[in-house]
Amino acid sequence: MTDRTGAAHAIVRCCRRLWEAGLIAGADGNVSVRLGPDRLLVTPRGRLKADLTPEEMVEVSLDGAHLSGSHRASTELDLHLRIYRRSPEAGAVVHAHPPTATGFALAGQSLPPDLLPETVLLLGQVPLVRYATPSTPALGDLVEPMIAGHVALLLANHGAVTWAPDLALAQIRMESLEHAARIVLAARAVGTPVPLTPEQLASLEHRRGSSTHG
Ligand SMILES: [Zn+2]
Repeated sequence: MTDRTGAAHAIVRCCRRLWEAGLIAGADGNVSVRLGPDRLLVTPRGRLKADLTPEEMVEVSLDGAHLSGSHRASTELDLHLRIYRRSPEAGAVVHAHPPTATGFALAGQSLPPDLLPETVLLLGQVPLVRYATPSTPALGDLVEPMIAGHVALLLANHGAVTWAPDLALAQIRMESLEHAARIVLAARAVGTPVPLTPEQLASLEHRRGSSTHG
């Protein structure tokens, strides 16, 4: 169980940081934290993320019913609910529009999984989900089958979503996703990126399975 006040403050800090890092603009993006087995706290609809206060957060049940809060929940609530329902270990979800990672998604590309150790350790495979209109159940329908076995997804012509047992790691994953995309883009501008060898990848996978993230 996560306490509501602590979660609300953590979401405010996360949104502020996403905005400061340029991973969202204006009312873009949405963040949620699981408060218990059947309820979560999520950012409100249509508010500037950089200016949110803890009191504005909206508590909803896992089936999407409004439980408390004076605002309506994020328009992307369905995306969050699908992840919590499909991934019992998910304790927090971050959806943002990180510019370079979203550039990959606009070009119809997933993030190469075999170039950077940090990508392997923190993100694993980051597949590209086909386009569906944001904030509609059609997006959730495409995302849902890709949740198992992943912790981050690119959304075609839209953005990215990450999740983790806690908000700190979900946020780290979003920042790392964007940073990795920038590095891959730089490598492609310089020349042809050299993939890690199967042995190097196996060594990283071993570390991923045996240690927590540093
Ligand atoms: Zn979005």
